[in-house]
Amino acid sequence: MKIRELLRQEQTSLSFEVFPPKKDTDFANVETATLGIAKLQPSYMSVTYGAGGSTKGNTIQLASEIQQKYNVPAISHLTCVCASKENIKAALNEMKSAGIENILALRGDLPNNFEGEVFTDFAHASELVTFIKENGDFCVGGACYPEVHPDSPTKADDLEGLKRKVEAGCEYLTTQMFFDNNIFFNFMYRVREAGITVPIIPGIMPITRRAQVKNAVKLSGCNVPERFKNIVDRFGDNEAAMKQAGIAYATDQIIDLLANGVKHIHVYSMNKPEIAAGIQANLSEILKA
Ligand code: FAD
Repeated sequence: MKIRELLRQEQTSLSFEVFPPKKDTDFANVETATLGIAKLQPSYMSVTYGAGGSTKGNTIQLASEIQQKYNVPAISHLTCVCASKENIKAALNEMKSAGIENILALRGDLPNNFEGEVFTDFAHASELVTFIKENGDFCVGGACYPEVHPDSPTKADDLEGLKRKVEAGCEYLTTQMFFDNNIFFNFMYRVREAGITVPIIPGIMPITRRAQVKNAVKLSGCNVPERFKNIVDRFGDNEAAMKQAGIAYATDQIIDLLANGVKHIHVYSMNKPEIAAGIQANLSEILKA
């Protein structure tokens, strides 16, 4: 099923994300976790892609298994930084053969230890979107940043980049994580005012360990509100308490988004079936309402 069709439905949707292992020896553990999440029957699942193509085979295999074993529509991420058109074409062909219909098109960031050849065929995700559309019948999504992508000098530049991506054929956008819903609501106002009309799916990251906070901020530059800092200060040293509090905080964010007109929620479930299940259970009646 193409994600664009799912996004047209009235039904509220909850989707989960997993990431493939860097080393093939870790594949079995990630596969178990991935299928544990697929078993929950989310609306769809997405599988990330190592920039530089390092996880290509594992990304495609996990996405394919999600669809085949649990009949859950899957999105394969695809990055274009340092990739050649031939590399991308080969990846698209593999995806087609594996029955994958949905791609999240990303620029990616050049890995520090990247040892392969660096091609410059694609400068931005928008160019990848165009290329994918020219080379297959995929439903293509992209990323957006409520707190502005670090490469964008201004909010206006960021919106300009986003507009180009949508004009290139990007059919929906998933946001970078955020911990303050007001940031998302303000972003939505700016996006719609700029004339971008595609569906925007908020990406919610449940923080269930103290160490994750530092990584999340480093990765995304997102603002951590005082209310959440207090939760981490109070419960961060107690594994079980922090997990419960992190699931509760993410649930609270999601309920507020749904109460304010959002229909589709994507959860960065980080290969943790128990976290995905915890959030889904907290929302069992809400998702039906
Ligand atoms: P782009 O859309 O190319 O944007 C990057 C910068 O360039 C922005 O500042 C933008 O405003 C600007 N820009 C865009 N188009 C133009 C243009 N035509 N002209 C001038 N400027 C332009 N990384 C991975 O490696 N693997 C993943 O699987 C992955 N999944 C992700 C999923 C989501 C939902 C998100 C939010 C991020 C994900 N990332 C992933 C991280 C992402 O690759 C990085 O944030 C990267 O720095 C930017 O990728 P992008 O696709 O947003 O880039």
